Amino acid sequence: MARCAYCKRKPADQRTAVRIIGKSKKYTRELPYCSERCKQDLHSFIDSHNHAVPRFKNILMIWTVIFFGALLVQLITGNPLFKYIITPALAAFIGLVFIVYPSGFMELKYYERVGIKWFSLYVRITGFIIIGAAASIVLQAY
Ligand SMILES: [Zn+2]
Repeated sequence: MARCAYCKRKPADQRTAVRIIGKSKKYTRELPYCSERCKQDLHSFIDSHNHAVPRFKNILMIWTVIFFGALLVQLITGNPLFKYIITPALAAFIGLVFIVYPSGFMELKYYERVGIKWFSLYVRITGFIIIGAAASIVLQAY
């Protein structure tokens, strides 16, 4: 029997249909769930995923422009600001995005593999680790 797509802990004999954003358009999937609670959480995850995915694309584009713009300035001027301020700031920003939008980070299949609940948690923890690493780079500079 399939396990609950949300918590992965319990076997799930019921399925709920969701509309989810794929590569370019929405598609329908049936996801197994174990309880009403997990069903609700599953649907709110899908809502937040569908909101976050387009935002993620924009954020990534802006981030890339800032990164390469700053890299170019660094190459031209040789200013160490890039290494000690801009790189950690950009990294910390990614960490923050992971914490705020853990649902938009990857395709659904990766969340399903470990359980949506746990994968979202791992993404958030990764966000905190990235911010911690960025902070330690800044601290080392002084
Ligand atoms: Zn469950």
